[in-house]
Amino acid sequence: MAKEDVIVIGSGGGGAVIAKELGEMGLKVLVLEAGPWYGNKKWQNPNLQPGAKISSTFDDLDVSLYKQLVNKYEQNMNDLVSGRFRWGPADRSRSQWFRNIKQKGMIWQSSGVGGTTQVYTANCPRAFPMAVDHVWPLSYLELIPYYEKVEDTLPVNFAPTTAKEELFYYGAKKAGWHLIPTLDVTVPGFRPQPNAILPPNNNILNPHVRLEELSWMEGCTLAGHCVNGCPHGPSMDKIAKRSTNVSYVPLALKTSNVTIRPNAFVLKIVTDIDSSEGLRAIGVVIRDTWTGEKEELQAKVVVMAAGSIESPRLWMNSGLPHNPWVGKGLVNHYMDWLTGIFAEKELMPILGSSDVNPFVGHTCGARLDYPGLGTLQTVGMSPGLTASFFGMSESGYDFLTSSMTKGRLYGDELKEVMTNYRRTLSVLVSTDDEVDPQNGITLDPLISDEHGSVPVVAYKPTKRSKRKRSELVKIAVDILYKAGAKKIIWSNWPAGNMIHMESTMRMGFVVDENCESYDVKRLYIADNSVHYNSLGGPNPTLTTQALATRTAEKLFNKYF
Ligand SMILES: Cc1cc2nc3c(=O)[nH]c(=O)nc-3n(C[C@H](O)[C@H](O)[C@H](O)COP(=O)(O)OP(=O)(O)OC[C@H]3O[C@@H](n4cnc5c(N)ncnc54)[C@H](O)[C@@H]3O)c2cc1C
Ligand code: SF4
Repeated sequence: MAKEDVIVIGSGGGGAVIAKELGEMGLKVLVLEAGPWYGNKKWQNPNLQPGAKISSTFDDLDVSLYKQLVNKYEQNMNDLVSGRFRWGPADRSRSQWFRNIKQKGMIWQSSGVGGTTQVYTANCPRAFPMAVDHVWPLSYLELIPYYEKVEDTLPVNFAPTTAKEELFYYGAKKAGWHLIPTLDVTVPGFRPQPNAILPPNNNILNPHVRLEELSWMEGCTLAGHCVNGCPHGPSMDKIAKRSTNVSYVPLALKTSNVTIRPNAFVLKIVTDIDSSEGLRAIGVVIRDTWTGEKEELQAKVVVMAAGSIESPRLWMNSGLPHNPWVGKGLVNHYMDWLTGIFAEKELMPILGSSDVNPFVGHTCGARLDYPGLGTLQTVGMSPGLTASFFGMSESGYDFLTSSMTKGRLYGDELKEVMTNYRRTLSVLVSTDDEVDPQNGITLDPLISDEHGSVPVVAYKPTKRSKRKRSELVKIAVDILYKAGAKKIIWSNWPAGNMIHMESTMRMGFVVDENCESYDVKRLYIADNSVHYNSLGGPNPTLTTQALATRTAEKLFNKYF
């Protein structure tokens, strides 16, 4: 049986990064991805036909095919059941992969090459230093060179200002907040979003360049709808939104050392006992999601990057040693959503226009960071997604006053808000929620699918997390009113809305500070699950990518 140097499980936020780094070090890497691959010549109809088995050359990437498959239509891309970015196998005659979530809410994750970064909004803030220093088993200073490497590679830029950011900055300044001029956030304040989106195309205002031509040039078109997928750019490695399938994956393939196999669900980590190392990982068992065939593959080192739910599930389904922290301590940035509705006469003097048009520009172009509490971000989602968010609430139908509505919107009230959609500004709350061992992933004792026992996902915020979220909600309300909102909708999202899952295989408990498992040698983890906590509230992916870059170095030095 051929032996790889390293097998990486998952090609999303973390997996694609460690594959590229190890490939550049000259190691032979096999990436196993459970979902489909969009934009590779070897999979012309990825949701209809099995296509090829593997791809290992950059020349297989095909931007025309990618643009044909990835468009901005909300339902096409983001319908959680049938959209291209759903959580399930490529084959559309089969259902999604089931997770048992015993509370209100939803789990928003994607399968496929690029993982959930295919749909993410590309915000790339660093963790708050105070959430890392003297808390994590490594210092913030140690992370900085790895942050810098990822920021250069993606690359990370500051978001340009469109109307919704301008309105947010206006409100934030009137509410007494100041601009933070640094990436390392130690005091509260607002700033443009650091994100992995290429700067705006120089021809945006050129009337002689047609929209179709613009979309084939390098740079962001500011046309918005980034969550539905970004099809703008001249080649697969120059797409404006730098999801890992268009950034790290092309770079990994360029090393000629990395092979990627989509439609391959890893069922089990295979181990043996070595006289000097003890229990160690030696390979995996996979299941081809089209044919159902199983296969064992071997490697000198195995890296789990299947995400914060599937990595602990895989550990437990593989029967690896019991560790009380496997799957435990899930954090989720305990989120909330508020929307201000503005009148034309309020907007004109601030924006010089009667509309905000929140879908224009980067989805989350501005943020307010508050070390100790968490973060606020502007969010300009497409209208269908926005409307669906008004249907999610912990409080049911709970109307407060005429200028503030809390709870779920429906009927005439939803119609009224959506009629005013172009004059709204929405703010997402991301709390610095506490690690609590009661929260996390366990295996369902009764329900299995073709990949083993399904995960049960449970999350209940602690008292302190609830208090922090309330403080952030108050700040958001104040900013929206100061910006001139005539009415605010406070959604009061249920705690079960899972978008930023982290910390289920914590550093210092399940893995050491180099992200190697304490219990199984040669088994590393390179996804959100290794975070020690919720980073203070900032979006998680950049930190996962910095850690994956560091883990590659540590793994290489120890075993090769
Ligand atoms: C709408 C939305 C917006 C977001 N915006 C941002 C943002 O702006 N900034 C930010 O930092 N974060 C954002 N996030 C979160 C971000 O997407 C995640 O932090 C990031 O993708 C996590 O990386 P990961 O490697 O842990 O998991 P994933 O990216 O989910 O990758 C895991 C991969 O492993 C594969 N896999 C799972 N199990 C197996 C198995 N057994 N065998 C083989 N393959 C397997 C999956 O198919 C998937 O491709 C957003 C998320 C959503 C849903
Ligand atoms: S706004 Fe920019 S990043 Fe977003 S989808 Fe459009 S081109 Fe892509």
